[in-house]
Amino acid sequence: MGEQRRARPENEEHAGPVRRGPAYPAAVERLIDAFAKLPGIGRKSAERLAFYVLKHDEATAGDLARAILDVKQKIKHCRICWNLADGPVCAICENATRDRSQVLVVEQPKDLIALEQTGMYRGTYHVLMGRLSPLDGVEANDLTISDLVKRVKDPALNAGGVPITEIILGLNPTLEGDGTGLYLQNELDSLGAGKVGITRLARGLPSGSQLEYANKAVLADAIQSRQRMSG
Ligand SMILES: [Zn+2]
Repeated sequence: MGEQRRARPENEEHAGPVRRGPAYPAAVERLIDAFAKLPGIGRKSAERLAFYVLKHDEATAGDLARAILDVKQKIKHCRICWNLADGPVCAICENATRDRSQVLVVEQPKDLIALEQTGMYRGTYHVLMGRLSPLDGVEANDLTISDLVKRVKDPALNAGGVPITEIILGLNPTLEGDGTGLYLQNELDSLGAGKVGITRLARGLPSGSQLEYANKAVLADAIQSRQRMSG
């Protein structure tokens, strides 16, 4: 389609704003546009990435393309905790040496990875796949909160069929993270007194920060000195 437009330059002046700079061949433009859609990648970086691909052999490009497709085709979410998994259940839920009565609730899989890297936590997780954000239209139904409540209510839905006795809130120390924590606390409290104890990560984490960027020592301390909220 782009080729046809270029073949009739007399129409271009009517086709909206004129593009700056020399146009690359259509296939190169497509690749640059695709890279430029990635988070944190501007037009200049996208061009650099495209030239990297152009410069290297076909095998390198094939590896990159396959790695991208593999992630989409093979990686799913764990049916218990929503962590990334290459089967129906993730490696953490499947591991019988983990304490399945403890569930640490995080916003995203990358928060789970950051906490795992501390090596300080032996329980399991629940990934909410986001946080409540009324201004952005993210409501409880958009997250995996109901799955967490089901796990607490019915041990058969938890890893190893073990009843959950402690929920640790590991949300980011932001306004939205705090709001999500409060919502979860109300939901879990409404299941009945003493059903489950709720703690949250200690506030060694600076307010407004992101879990994924905290260093290991701070995270390890936040896990160890977690604070009881209810239950
Ligand atoms: Zn899992």
